Amino acid sequence: MIRIDPHAHTNHSDGTDTPSELIAAAKSAGLDFVGISDHDTTSGWDEAVKAARSQGIGLIPSVEFSAQWQGRPVHILGLLVDSKHAGLQQEFLNAQNSRSERLERMVSKMQNDFPGLAWENVERRAAGAPLGRPHLADELVDLGFVGDRSEAFVEILSPRGPYWERQKTLPPREAVELIRAAGGVPILAHPQATKRGRPVPQEVVQEMVDAGLFALERDHRDHDQGDRAEVDRLAEYFGLPITGGSDYHGRGKPNRLGENLTDPDVFARICEQGITEVIKP
Ligand code: AMP
Ligand code: FE
Ligand code: FE
Ligand code: ZN
Repeated sequence: MIRIDPHAHTNHSDGTDTPSELIAAAKSAGLDFVGISDHDTTSGWDEAVKAARSQGIGLIPSVEFSAQWQGRPVHILGLLVDSKHAGLQQEFLNAQNSRSERLERMVSKMQNDFPGLAWENVERRAAGAPLGRPHLADELVDLGFVGDRSEAFVEILSPRGPYWERQKTLPPREAVELIRAAGGVPILAHPQATKRGRPVPQEVVQEMVDAGLFALERDHRDHDQGDRAEVDRLAEYFGLPITGGSDYHGRGKPNRLGENLTDPDVFARICEQGITEVIKP
């Protein structure tokens, strides 16, 4: 049985491994295929492709696109997109700008309550990668306000918390359309992860399905048994396949590579539909 984990991040977004380190970690974890699915960028692909070829690991070049519904994050994986698609690259630029703007607004709101917190130090952490709350969380850890990244998300950085600011993004339907226009295979990531806000309502999933959504990510650390049953119900209702992935972020999160996997038959369909070729092991 081949082991396929299509959902992982590097330091080209909010993970901590370089793309080469991700490939090495995927090899140690006994994976046949790993995805590089950084948030709103494909800048890690070149290094990942080289490392995958030299280490003999399968690679699924991908992206995780940020959309929002009523100000709550909705993440859509775009597997095997054409990274050179002009509309896609334009939207990455928009997303990167709105990510910085939004995070800076959160930092301003936090200023009085977290002495020593400075925007320049948060910004520097990303080293040019798309900024996200994890970079701010890491700064709060180093300043001693929380013990680790996850603790920062419980209240301080939560959508229900006092410092929450919306980010300007595409609506979910348009993000799915864009991924399809760029030849990619759109998969709704962790749709029932309620720790991150309200789950995506069925009518919003309907819009995404109408726009070309391929699958729902069911097997994910942030889904308990009840959440998985709800994803099964949605998948059956819409006639969509399900996938699984680790959402590995290196040292940034407890998620381990290969802890959730995607079925080889579903993966075969993804490979048929995606415009970019996977790198074979
Ligand atoms: P942002 O892109 O700014 O909306 O931040 C979202 C990112 O924060 C996600 O991609 C995850 O990497 C991370 N994240 C979300 N919830 C948690 C959590 N409870 N613990 C640790 N990291 C989280
Ligand atoms: Fe992330
Ligand atoms: Fe996500
Ligand atoms: Zn992810």
